[in-house]
Amino acid sequence: MAQDSKRSRPNILVTGTPGTGKTTTSTALAESTQLRHINIGELVREKNLHDGWDDELECHVINEDLVCDELEDIMEQGGNIVDYHGCDFFPERWFDRVVVLQTENSVLYDRLTKRGYTGAKLTNNIECEIFQVLLEEAKESYPEDIVLALKSDTIEDITRNIAILTDWVRNWQPRS
Ligand code: ADP
Ligand code: MN
Repeated sequence: MAQDSKRSRPNILVTGTPGTGKTTTSTALAESTQLRHINIGELVREKNLHDGWDDELECHVINEDLVCDELEDIMEQGGNIVDYHGCDFFPERWFDRVVVLQTENSVLYDRLTKRGYTGAKLTNNIECEIFQVLLEEAKESYPEDIVLALKSDTIEDITRNIAILTDWVRNWQPRS
């Protein structure tokens, strides 16, 4: 079973294509719930949990085993919001809720362009969103009833998503 009865507060995974608003959403949710925000990209850089730089994809080659080892104790305690654009390598038992943020293509295109993405990096990410890669990955990796897809096109969407998720956290109870 995915849920671990030992934790007193839930663990949430916030995933989605780069630019869909994971970090913005996770930061606001951490504020409203007092859960701990763990930005995997930052953690990987700070603690060198990677196997070097991928020139083609222009990102670190994340070492998934090192990341999971690093987080095991803290995830067991519960009360974490994990923010990452991938979800298939975390242990299934870690999460009580998996949120997949989704953004309309033209909106995402503008966000990524603003972030300086061009060429293959830009097209790969747009395609990732068009083909709902993260939603499929989440559904394959976790029980369907804990996976929640949320639209993240506008500030109003963020406000609504935070309200929904904050409510969910407040009502969450460990399984006995
Ligand atoms: P991610 O962590 O998924 O890569 P960010 O949270 O860094 O995405 O958001 C990328 C950019 O898009 C930021 O400038 C952020 O302010 C903006 N943004 C994200 N989500 C929304 C939204 N729902 N509405 C408006 N702007 C957003
Ligand atoms: Mn981010």
